[in-house]
Amino acid sequence: MARVRHDDGAGRSKAAAAEPSPVRSVVRASEEGAAEEPSLRPRTMDEYIGQTALKRKLRVFVDAAKQRSEPLDHVLLHGPPGLGKTTMAQILANEMGVRIHITSGPAVEHKGVLAGHLTALESGDVLFIDEIHRLPPIVEESLYSAMEDGRIDLPVGEGTRARTMPFALAPFTLVGATTRTALLGAPLRERFQIVEGLEYYADSELAAIVQRTARILGFSATDAGAAEIGRRSRGTPRIANRLTRRVRDFTQVRGRDAIDRADAEYGLGELGIDPEGLDAIDRRVLVAIVDLFDGGPVGIDALAATLSEPRDTLEDVYEPFLLQRGFLVRTPRGRQVTRKALAHLGREVPPGGGQGELPL
Ligand code: ADP
Repeated sequence: MARVRHDDGAGRSKAAAAEPSPVRSVVRASEEGAAEEPSLRPRTMDEYIGQTALKRKLRVFVDAAKQRSEPLDHVLLHGPPGLGKTTMAQILANEMGVRIHITSGPAVEHKGVLAGHLTALESGDVLFIDEIHRLPPIVEESLYSAMEDGRIDLPVGEGTRARTMPFALAPFTLVGATTRTALLGAPLRERFQIVEGLEYYADSELAAIVQRTARILGFSATDAGAAEIGRRSRGTPRIANRLTRRVRDFTQVRGRDAIDRADAEYGLGELGIDPEGLDAIDRRVLVAIVDLFDGGPVGIDALAATLSEPRDTLEDVYEPFLLQRGFLVRTPRGRQVTRKALAHLGREVPPGGGQGELPL
């Protein structure tokens, strides 16, 4: 079983309680997942719902590495937040039977922090760097020799006698996670031998995740109730878990012990999640494009400024979902709403000409 080490944010890695449940010690303080009971996190490939093609490939790579008694090659996982990159990194360590050390790009502030992590690795260990695109450039550069040659240059001596000494590292696997590979420079990207993307989940997979989560929380959901929550979860397990938790609250307070479709519809309505799964910010994005930019096209910076939302959040979280569901299209001149978006907002859809050139 994998053991987990977690970066305390100051760059120090501390051993966390390991057995019998390795994932229990993982804490992600910087995001909503922090409030999530760790037991919701799948621990094995079998418990991990969906991403079938990805799992099939990774299983082969894990088996092949184990047969050769070698560490797994370096893995880059990319995809929108909440799709299960961290979870998969832990599963990889688990399946390889090694420890995982967890940190993130912004936490590795300088080369010394990286050196601390790398030199703490034992043979075969996994080093997981979340948001790897946010590593400072100088830190990223020292990662190259670690990934390629299994060595890092450590500073020794002081003043005029200061120099660097190569330090041989134990063979290890780097698992990096990023929301978009485009954010990563080619030199780093090319040093990963395995580069895989995670896809948004199908509604049926999310329904299964809702059922599993409800069960772990000691509650239950009917098939129709789980399907309704799954369908409105933006293709994202983290959101499915959060909505399940909140809908459970509404259902429980209404004196009921299982979430059926009516409970799900009621709870989701109270939470402001509409029947297409759009939340208040999704709708603000679409309304702003329609009302302030005449339906688009509009550049992402203008949109971010208008909405007072960080550009990154719009690009990583909102835009991919709205694009995937056909509410938005990207044109060379910017983002444009579709007829489907106008219809959803209850706005008039022009019959043709002018705004009628709207896509779809
Ligand atoms: P990411 O690292 O991509 O932001 P995480 O790995 O933190 O996403 O996943 C968010 C949460 O969603 C996890 O804590 C886990 O409970 C749940 N989750 C993710 N992927 C799956 C899956 N395939 N099956 C079931 N639950 C999942």
